[in-house]
Amino acid sequence: MAHSYEIKVELTKDSQLAKVDFNNLKFGQILSDHMLVADYDDGEWKEVKIVPYANLSLSPATSALHYGQAIFEGIKAYKFEDGRVSIFRPDRNFDRFNKSAVRLEMPEVPREIFMDGLKKLIDIDRSFVPPTTGASLYIRPFMFGTEPALGVHPSKSYKFVIITGPVGAYYNKPLRVKVETYFTRAAAGGVGFSKNAGNYALSLYPTRLAQDEGFDQLIWTDAKEHKYIEEAGTANLVFMLGDTLITPGSETVLQGVTRHSIMDLAKSWGIKTETRDVSVQELIEGIETGKVSEAFAAGTAATLTPISEIGYEGKIYKLSDPATREFSNKVLDYLNQLRYGKVEDPFGWNF
Ligand code: PMP
Repeated sequence: MAHSYEIKVELTKDSQLAKVDFNNLKFGQILSDHMLVADYDDGEWKEVKIVPYANLSLSPATSALHYGQAIFEGIKAYKFEDGRVSIFRPDRNFDRFNKSAVRLEMPEVPREIFMDGLKKLIDIDRSFVPPTTGASLYIRPFMFGTEPALGVHPSKSYKFVIITGPVGAYYNKPLRVKVETYFTRAAAGGVGFSKNAGNYALSLYPTRLAQDEGFDQLIWTDAKEHKYIEEAGTANLVFMLGDTLITPGSETVLQGVTRHSIMDLAKSWGIKTETRDVSVQELIEGIETGKVSEAFAAGTAATLTPISEIGYEGKIYKLSDPATREFSNKVLDYLNQLRYGKVEDPFGWNF
C-alpha cells in the first residue's frame, strides 16, 4: 500500500540566487538554496523535509565512511522557453537508484519520497534552473549508511538527500580516450551496474594515469580478458559501425538513461541498433577500415560527447571530424530540442 509522507518545508532566509552567473556555468560548483533530507531508522522512513542547503553533522564512526554503503544518481532539469521546468526521465533514475540500493544492502526509497520530493524541491528552487540553452539544473539524489558504529554489517540507519545546482557542459571538447587493458572497473557478479560511490573511487587512479599520458578518459574493458569494450568513466559508449548503432551489452556496465534514449530514438528513425558485446579488435579494425564512422560517450552529465581519438596498446586511432558526423549531430540536436520543449515529446520523456 502506498504510504504518504508529509514533506515539511523550511525556506532559506539567505538565498544565493543573486550570486549565480548563469552565462558562465561550470559543472558542479554551485548549489541551489534547498535540499531534501529523509532519514531511515528502525526499519522505516521517518522524517522527510526540504531545508536550506547546509552542512550535515556526522559521527566519525558513520558507517558509509568506513564500509562504503553510498549510492547516488544524476538527473537533469531543463527550462522551456515558456518558463516551465521539465525533468528528463527521472522515473528511470528512480528505478536504477533502488536497484543500486538492493545490491548494496540498503533500504529502497519509496516513490513518494524520491519522485514527489524531487518535484517539490525543483519547484521551490525553480529559479536555479538556467534559462540558457546548453545549461541545466543537475540533480543529485544520494543515500548513505549513517549508523554511528564500527563493524562490517548493513547500517541500521540511512540518510537520503537530494541536492541540485545549475550546470554547464561537463566536457567541452571531443574526447581522447584510452582503452584500459590492465585495471578493472567491474567484474561479473560485482557492482558495475550500480551507481555506488566505490565505482568512482576505484576509477580515479587509472584515469589519472591515462590523463598523465594525455588522454581525457578511459574506456574500461572486461575484467577477465580485457578484450571487450565496456564503458567510459562517467558515460556509456556508442558506436556507428556500418549502418548499425551499437552499444556494449555487458551486465557490468551502468544502464545509462541517455544511451537508452539515444538507441530508442535511432530505432524510431529506422536505424538498426544492437546492444551486444563489442571487442576491442572489432572497434580498432572498424576504425582502420572506416567502418566505424562515429563514436561517442553518452551520459546525463556528458550528454553526447564525441570521441576523436582512441589509444590502444601505444597506438592512436583517429576518428572522423566530429563536425561531420551525421547521426551524432542529429540526435544531439533532437535531444536538445526535446529537453528544452521545442519539439513534441512523443515518448513522454519530459516530466
Ligand atoms: N556509466 C557511468 C559509469 C556513469 O557514471 C554514467 C553517468 N550516470 C553513465 C554510464 C551514463 O548514465 P546516464 O545516461 O543514466 O547518465
